[in-house]
Amino acid sequence: MTMIRTAACLAVGSELLGGARVDTNSLKVARALAGVGVRVIEKRIVGDEEERIEGAVTSLLAAADLVVVTGGLGPTRDDVTRQAVARALGRELAFDDGLMAAIEKRYEILGLPMPEMCSRMAWSIPGATMLPNPRGTAPGMLIDVDGALLAVFPGVPAEMEAMLETYLIPGLERKNGGSVCATRTLLLSGVIESAVEARIQPLYGRFGRENVTILASPGVVRLILAASGSAGEAATRLDEMERAFRAVLGGDVVGADVDTLAGLILQRLRNREETLATAESCTGGLIGKLITDVPGSSEVFLGGVISYSNAAKEALLDVSPEILRAHGAVSQPTARAMAEGVQKRFGSDWGIGITGIAGPGGGTDEKPVGLVHWAVAGPEGTRHAHRVFPGDRAMVRTWSANLALDLLRRMLDERQR
Ligand code: ATP
Ligand code: MG
Repeated sequence: MTMIRTAACLAVGSELLGGARVDTNSLKVARALAGVGVRVIEKRIVGDEEERIEGAVTSLLAAADLVVVTGGLGPTRDDVTRQAVARALGRELAFDDGLMAAIEKRYEILGLPMPEMCSRMAWSIPGATMLPNPRGTAPGMLIDVDGALLAVFPGVPAEMEAMLETYLIPGLERKNGGSVCATRTLLLSGVIESAVEARIQPLYGRFGRENVTILASPGVVRLILAASGSAGEAATRLDEMERAFRAVLGGDVVGADVDTLAGLILQRLRNREETLATAESCTGGLIGKLITDVPGSSEVFLGGVISYSNAAKEALLDVSPEILRAHGAVSQPTARAMAEGVQKRFGSDWGIGITGIAGPGGGTDEKPVGLVHWAVAGPEGTRHAHRVFPGDRAMVRTWSANLALDLLRRMLDERQR
């Protein structure tokens, strides 16, 4: 049989449509399939309705090499997946005496009387390979459909996982001859999604649009690159992709497969045996939190001051009253004085200062809500930047914390060269 490259997941269950429960089965299926070189191209959720399940099975079988259906195989009236799949394939369900005996046996072992409705689970689809359920009663099915493969598993996550790993993944591994779907994540900071998209567009033709995913959050963008083939081929392809994307994105790339911006900064500072301190106003300690989220940050991070009031800026960071009077708390000179003040007070190699108007109140025409000034003081001087950020209070704070870290990251990059 030919290789199986693409898959679709169909989760069945009315409870998955409301606010009660989230479809985690498809996530597990997609992860397991990636390990054997199969890419999920579509996921769908339908309620316990025969026609809808039938329609989804039919259309997904036309779109992918493999369709994995989970849920609705149990004995209750709302479990109609078996009938729906039979109808989609144009086959009549047939009562299977062997299955019935196995189900009866299971109840005998459990020492329970078998409820009458359990006989519903003994109906099978002609041509299907019936799969015993190692963790439950409802059997699963594997069906060849004109070159495509249809797998139907129970919805209970533990039962579904056991069947996936026992009956589907090993067969796909053989069929796909050791191929995998591998990914590499490039972390970018100080950029916006649309600008990244515009710059990488020319590479889509070369590597395939479907092999590139952009995940954006305020101040940080993740680019997930994917490649398939043998483990060696995929790694070579990912190296090639990484080189090409770095060539286009240059210094905006923080690193490959790094967890967080703060983590990377701490690693760089640790390598250079340098230290950091922070002076935060509008971010209220968020930068300190991002840094101390990283285990081992105490080697590098000496501490910080949350200098919310002017008095605190003067008393704890030696920001001069003249600067505050002449330029205001949210200004370039104040941000610089905060960074340099905290650097001096803590005796650190680097200091970050940040001050702004997070909103929703407090804005003026001259200094609108979202205006943030930040500065980084380093061994070779101080750099400053400012922006007016969009969004609510939380977003302004996240944006500005990440951009302040980004400025430090860029200064470290430059010194490295
Ligand atoms: P059985 O009736 O034998 O337990 P089933 O195939 O009928 O199996 P369902 O009744 O659809 O399975 O679901 C059983 C349990 O598994 C429910 O609690 C359901 O919410 C949960 N479940 C079903 N599908 C999913 C899914 N895609 N993701 C997470 N949980 C699920
Ligand atoms: Mg159900």
